[in-house]
Amino acid sequence: MSMDNITKRFCPKCHSENIILWMGGYTGAMYRCPDCGYTGPVVIETNDPIPSRESKERGTE
Ligand SMILES: [Zn+2]
Repeated sequence: MSMDNITKRFCPKCHSENIILWMGGYTGAMYRCPDCGYTGPVVIETNDPIPSRESKERGTE
């Protein structure tokens, strides 16, 4: 594959890129961040560099 845009996943709380797919299935994916302990279905997906400052993420409405 030679795609330029690689979607990275980041923790919505601490923006760590160490966030991992914890489990997935019929209930939907759950992610877990080993850095801050976040566990949940919300993850930041972006092609851009990691935001250096915490900015308010828009809720998952
Ligand atoms: Zn985190």
